[in-house]
Amino acid sequence: MPDLSRREFLGAATGVAAGAMLGSPTVGHAAPAVHVRPPARPVAVGSANGLRGVELAGRLVREGMDTLDAAIEGVKLQELDPDDMSVGYGGLPNEAGVVQLDASCMHGPTRRAGAVGALEGIKTPSVVAKYVLLYTDHILLVGEGAKQFALSYGFLEENLLTEQSRERWLRWRANRGPDDDWLDVPETAQMGLRPTGTINLNVVSPKGELSSVTTTSGLAWKIPGRVGDSPIIGAGQYCDNDVGAAGSTGRGESNLKVCGAFLTVEHMRRGLAPTDACLETLRRVVATSEARLLDPRGRPQFQLSFYAVNKEGQFGAAALYPTRFAVFDGTAAAIRDAAHLFERS
Ligand code: ASP
Repeated sequence: MPDLSRREFLGAATGVAAGAMLGSPTVGHAAPAVHVRPPARPVAVGSANGLRGVELAGRLVREGMDTLDAAIEGVKLQELDPDDMSVGYGGLPNEAGVVQLDASCMHGPTRRAGAVGALEGIKTPSVVAKYVLLYTDHILLVGEGAKQFALSYGFLEENLLTEQSRERWLRWRANRGPDDDWLDVPETAQMGLRPTGTINLNVVSPKGELSSVTTTSGLAWKIPGRVGDSPIIGAGQYCDNDVGAAGSTGRGESNLKVCGAFLTVEHMRRGLAPTDACLETLRRVVATSEARLLDPRGRPQFQLSFYAVNKEGQFGAAALYPTRFAVFDGTAAAIRDAAHLFERS
């Protein structure tokens, strides 16, 4: 990562001023850390659409690249892939047919974070989030401001709606209900499920350096302006260089209420293995779900997944219902079954 010092300079200056005001040196209160031995080889874990991404990120870290730079190279594969309709270019649009993207990232060694929400017209929101982290004293930029910020660095404004995603949107609009002014398209079945998708990727290096990134086009057909969990530090992803990193995909609103990525890292801090930490967070998700989102047996009527890696390179994933995840375990990339709380009925 470029070694920019503005924030460190400002931070240091603020610290001196605060110390002077208080008449004593500033004292940091670090969260309690567990003592760990980093993995022999890099490990990267993320959502199942990140198979190519975890492999690339793991390989780049092995070649010496910084963990955040490598994680972003990994998710960029999906952002730029027009056939991944959950992320970046080709992502499914909002209710109005406009693609609005969310992304966030954290860099463990420097304890920095950056994010963008409801960003339009830029294919790689994860990179814009990294620029917020690198070049500003802020953490989250949204909407038009985020776009102008990206344009100022030379990002190209492009149409993100592919013909494939436009067609899916037009079909959804035509078939959304009997009481609107759009005529149903008879040959197309009504979409029962609301498509979701996202890529989360978490990396640890042999030096024990951690980073995390999550990027998404959000819930398909969302209300314009809706921002999900992905760009929210502590929800879409979280990274603590002393402990581990975690992130999420699935119904963002349910994750936002429990700050799920942060909670998962906190579970790892108190000693839970990554998979158990993810499961524990999911139990909290169920406990905080509104009745309208539960079936008569009290089971959520939505999917939510968490992915985690700790500083030692142990990794895991869990979801409400069976799903899979991608991992580079230091040697090879593979798709594995995640743990789950409920069987599908
Ligand atoms: N978590 C994303 C959101 O709510 C969507 C997803 O992962 O499917 O925006």
